[in-house]
Amino acid sequence: MNLSRKLLGQHLFEKLMKMTFYGHFVAGEDQEAIKPLIQRNHAFGVGSVLDYSVEEDLTPEEAERKEMDSCTSASEKKTGGAGHREKQYLAHRGFGDRRDKVISARTYFYADETKCDQHMETFLRCIEASGGSSEDSFSAIKLTALGRPQFLLQFSEVLMKWRKFFHQMAAEQGKAGLAVMETRLEVKKLQETLANLGIATKAESQHWFTGEDLGVSGTVDLLDWNSLIDNRTKLSKLLLVPNTKTGQLEPLLSHFTEEEDLQMKRMLQRMDVLATRALKLGVRLMVDAEQTYFQPAISRLTLEMQRKFNMEKAVIFNTFQCYLKEAYDNVTMDMELSRREGWHFGAKLVRGAYLEQERARAAQIGYEDPLNPTYEETNEMYQRCLDYVLEEIKYSQKVKVMVASHNEDTVKFTIRRMAELGIHPSENKVYFGQLLGMCDQITFPLGKCLCPRREGVGFAVLFTVSE
Ligand SMILES: Cc1cc2nc3c(=O)[nH]c(=O)nc-3n(C[C@H](O)[C@H](O)[C@H](O)COP(=O)(O)OP(=O)(O)OC[C@H]3O[C@@H](n4cnc5c(N)ncnc54)[C@H](O)[C@@H]3O)c2cc1C
Repeated sequence: MNLSRKLLGQHLFEKLMKMTFYGHFVAGEDQEAIKPLIQRNHAFGVGSVLDYSVEEDLTPEEAERKEMDSCTSASEKKTGGAGHREKQYLAHRGFGDRRDKVISARTYFYADETKCDQHMETFLRCIEASGGSSEDSFSAIKLTALGRPQFLLQFSEVLMKWRKFFHQMAAEQGKAGLAVMETRLEVKKLQETLANLGIATKAESQHWFTGEDLGVSGTVDLLDWNSLIDNRTKLSKLLLVPNTKTGQLEPLLSHFTEEEDLQMKRMLQRMDVLATRALKLGVRLMVDAEQTYFQPAISRLTLEMQRKFNMEKAVIFNTFQCYLKEAYDNVTMDMELSRREGWHFGAKLVRGAYLEQERARAAQIGYEDPLNPTYEETNEMYQRCLDYVLEEIKYSQKVKVMVASHNEDTVKFTIRRMAELGIHPSENKVYFGQLLGMCDQITFPLGKCLCPRREGVGFAVLFTVSE
């Protein structure tokens, strides 16, 4: 691309690009250029999700180098080792170029904090353009654009280790294999185990289970358990968890340097700025799902934003990838938390964009494949998650979903279930999203047939490319 731009000059290059695939899939280069397309789509009942799509022109080697640099902590660089870290949540040079075999999602590589601020500014422009285009619009963001990915890797590892520890204790209490929301640990036994393992004395763990709801029934579930490493408590800094393979106790959270701590805080601040603006302008913000080694952290941080910004309506939408074995658990847990805490649940359901990369990485590095083994199983998972959300929508005013798929059967299934459950399209609780130009035969009929007089059901993801 850079070479063609140099050879042709900026003006000719842009003209040529607009005549090619670019003109078909990309909405325009700035706020003004995309307006006519937004208006044309609007006339057909199709709304817009603005998504920023500029990708740096890096060679695979440059991408790998940037990735290794930004995913390794200062202490690991110093000691040359990763100590007790799990290999799934470590950067691997061979998979450093995250663009590899990914078609429909753009990839960000960390350069420095200034670049992250620039990404935030661009996302803000997208939010503003969305807010100006219609009253019921969406904008999409990616968290890897907003901060150093090392934090996402480390936080993901913490969350998954903590979840594994819960299941390990459930197995000890004879509760292995139950559905996640039905698994409850008896607090008394749990305290004994923690004391026997040398993790916390009974007196210490007594404080963990005395919250308002925590443990009143004498049991804790995974949501109560997760709240123990809530960012509002300092507990996670002190916690040790047993390594199932070595039997040794290991710290749950690695030490961050002061600079790394600051980088983490800045990422959270950027998210906060974006969500605040989205709320103010009435734009819903969808947080994209990314690779499995970042995703637990992305999902958890998004949930924190939902807790803060979704009190009156669903402003923040989390993305659930149904090719994951754990997709149903993730959806049901977040939904249950939203019920308990009273905030609005917004979800985008996708199958998942990183299939080949994820499979190859798990096989080569040697951890369990996190994805469903077959396409059919992913389809079943999608329907199961969607059905669960639609059932909830039937009874609740606090749930919204975007069915983000180009699969005609999925769209038909959704429309059939909506009719069966009595969910009318004009209620604006179910949206359909397709990438611009990828599935017009689905997007436009959805806009017209489901909701002839109002925008709000069919959505095309419009890419803007301003830098
Ligand atoms: C509006 C929109 C937003 C999106 N946002 C995101 C996002 O935030 N994060 C993200 O990861 N993706 C996102 N995607 C991409 C999405 O995850 C899919 O990759 C893409 O839409 C293709 O899936 P489908 O349902 O449209 O079509 P289909 O052709 O029915 O499904 C293809 C998908 O099925 C799954 N699959 C295929 N073969 C197998 C197999 N052998 N085993 C298991 N699973 C298999 C894979 O996920 C594959 O991408 C988005 C897509 C859209 C339309």
